[in-house]
Amino acid sequence: MYGLKKDWVLEKKPRVCVLEDYMGAEARWCPGCGDHAVLNSVQRVARDLQLAPERTVVVSGIGCSSRFPHYMKTYGFHGLHGRALPVASGIRSRRPDLDIFVVTGDGDCCAIGTAHWIHAIRYNMNMTVLLLDNNIYGLTKAQTSPTTKMTERSNTHPRGSFFVPIEPISVVLGIPNASFVAQTVDWNPPHLYETIRAGHEHRGLSFIRILQRCPHYTSHVFAEAQRDTSRILYMRHPEGINLPDAMSKIFKNQVEHDPSNISEARDLAREDAGVLPIGLFYKKPDALRYDEVTAEGLKMSAAEKIEAINNALDRFMV
Ligand code: SF4
Repeated sequence: MYGLKKDWVLEKKPRVCVLEDYMGAEARWCPGCGDHAVLNSVQRVARDLQLAPERTVVVSGIGCSSRFPHYMKTYGFHGLHGRALPVASGIRSRRPDLDIFVVTGDGDCCAIGTAHWIHAIRYNMNMTVLLLDNNIYGLTKAQTSPTTKMTERSNTHPRGSFFVPIEPISVVLGIPNASFVAQTVDWNPPHLYETIRAGHEHRGLSFIRILQRCPHYTSHVFAEAQRDTSRILYMRHPEGINLPDAMSKIFKNQVEHDPSNISEARDLAREDAGVLPIGLFYKKPDALRYDEVTAEGLKMSAAEKIEAINNALDRFMV
């Protein structure tokens, strides 16, 4: 009689996250920095895959790009220099339900974090690792990084670096149990987006190197490749990362590359060829995953865990 329905039920509307649900603090990178484009793509991937912000975590180390977690409205861990991957591995060990992104730079990952980098690839725990490679230590004002090209000047090598740079993709392709290895560029948003999305959809550790512009210190490094698309080698394959024809035709250099062929992937990854390959180098969907082992027993009650520990200890009784 008061307008109340007898069969009143609470109607639960499906939840839809919009872009703003992933947008954190205003990014404070330099104008034109490639990090902005990567942030944009990660937010769009999260929105399009409807990742729950409260079940998504972004982990980083130290460096310009490692400010990333502050700019996402998700959980985040801005960690210690070079230690993003062990932190992310720890999170994955306990929380198989979370979506994990790791953001690291060339100094963070390929210098102080190298040991963690190698073993994280080998462990192949489910997470998306973005290496934002601008060939320089930007946050600490332009020191030579492991990927700085020879003869490039920096504050630590004012007459030009005399070190042979590390090749991150070649390194990862040499680590046993690598399962997803891709490369993209920050200045092609569709390819950047598709690569991050494919990496996130892969079950296992996806390693994505993003060639990232640093207009403040290394503006010339990728300028030529940005202006002249013949400097890019677009890798395509039905199992790879593909753009619609209308977008991919801007790349004059294209190659059909089967991402299950690791020998060919290693040849393509060599950086002395004079072109920058983009796309999926290698994919092994059935690679062993250490997080499947560490997740064992997570659903056990406290009493079951104590019983299991006691049973294990009993085996050592003499
Ligand atoms: Fe980006 Fe370079 Fe500025 Fe750092 S120094 S925020 S990498 S443009």
